[in-house]
Amino acid sequence: MTTQEPFVIAGGGVGGLTAALALAQIGVPSLLFERATAFREVGAGLQLSPNACRVLRRLGVLDALMEQAVQPRYVRLRRGSDGAELARVPLDDAEKRWGAPYIAVHRADLLAALVERARAENLIQISNDSSLTGFIQDEKGVAVTYRFDGEFRRASGAALIGADGVRSMTRSRLIQNGADMPAYTGHTAWRAILPAAGLPEAFRRPVANLWFGERAHLVHYPLRGGSIVNVVALVEDTWRGGAESDPEFWDNAGDGKFLLNRFKGWRGEARELIEAGETWLRWPLFDRPPLDSFARGRVALLGDSAHPMLPYLAQGAAQAIEDAAALAAAVTADRENPAAALTAYSAARVMRSRKVQEGARAQGQIYHLSGVKAFARDLALRFSTPGMLRGRQDWIYAQ
Ligand SMILES: Cc1cc2nc3c(=O)[nH]c(=O)nc-3n(C[C@H](O)[C@H](O)[C@H](O)COP(=O)(O)OP(=O)(O)OC[C@H]3O[C@@H](n4cnc5c(N)ncnc54)[C@H](O)[C@@H]3O)c2cc1C
Repeated sequence: MTTQEPFVIAGGGVGGLTAALALAQIGVPSLLFERATAFREVGAGLQLSPNACRVLRRLGVLDALMEQAVQPRYVRLRRGSDGAELARVPLDDAEKRWGAPYIAVHRADLLAALVERARAENLIQISNDSSLTGFIQDEKGVAVTYRFDGEFRRASGAALIGADGVRSMTRSRLIQNGADMPAYTGHTAWRAILPAAGLPEAFRRPVANLWFGERAHLVHYPLRGGSIVNVVALVEDTWRGGAESDPEFWDNAGDGKFLLNRFKGWRGEARELIEAGETWLRWPLFDRPPLDSFARGRVALLGDSAHPMLPYLAQGAAQAIEDAAALAAAVTADRENPAAALTAYSAARVMRSRKVQEGARAQGQIYHLSGVKAFARDLALRFSTPGMLRGRQDWIYAQ
């Protein structure tokens, strides 16, 4: 591979943009195709753990992000039924312990920081309104087709990185296995952004709050200097009658009445937040089976297309960012042979991301316990020291 041959990247989300920046840092150009006409304000809050922030710092993105970020001092674990505090997981010494801060940002701010950095980089060419529709590869390179302004066009490069999200076209074409389809997990995230001005002062404090309940949990934390509060209610929908069989379920606008009913036994601030949310967006959460390899020849998957995961360890974007760093490291080690570099990238990432994927699922089960099992969980948390709880994050954050 000459360093002049670009990598083609499908998808300008967190994963695709970070991959383009990581490749540019080692002198590899990229052509990035993003389906959306512009990088808009989509999604809501994201917690970015030190394993992600370390990479963003190396890529020169973290400083810009810190202007908007909130640094939670700890994660506060509480019980939804009575508001009792169960434990606190300290985050205030993240920089010292894990080598980078733990931050909460609006996804739009993260995308804006990545796009600004990418646009300043000559080696990255971004095309919006460009949807990848197909690709072929041989031993010399990849050729892709994409749709721009209603027309089909072609491009080529040394390799293709499919960073096109959980419904990845690249993955569907690459894996070609009928069992490998995005599947609804039975879990839905309900998201709202509330102006902090209308809420008690406690909601503005730099704390990540996590409330446990039966087959549901709630997360909230302030964003943008405490001016807004990000609220995510995560529910198992198969509870009481399978709401997902209703066609309206797939419409993204969520009816707050459902949520009020679903959280009716909850007390304290968690309840206040559910009542305060006027506009809820509903995100049914999708999954795909874990893969044994993310690469086939000169094509590789990255981010949610490779390893979509439930958001219960707050790691989806962080893992996409880790992927990007691993991709650049593998290409640096084998610049002449993109296929070998992608194989090495895959080998470096498959076990790690599978462990996080499985860990996120297990974490959700713990959050959603009821009865005696929930009692045992709460007791164990109360008897855990903050240091013990923090130590349990090392395997994720210290990587
Ligand atoms: C409720 C919720 C809370 C979350 N909280 C956290 C958190 O706190 N911390 C964290 O780290 N993660 C979190 N995540 C996960 C995180 O949002 C995702 O893992 C992350 O956005 C994945 O990034 P990606 O770039 O792989 O995919 P995406 O963000 O989905 O980006 C894919 C991009 O590809 C584009 N695209 C798709 N198809 C094509 C095509 N054919 N051609 C061109 N472009 C295409 C799309 O338009 C999109 O821009 C959360 C997720 C949810 C649902």
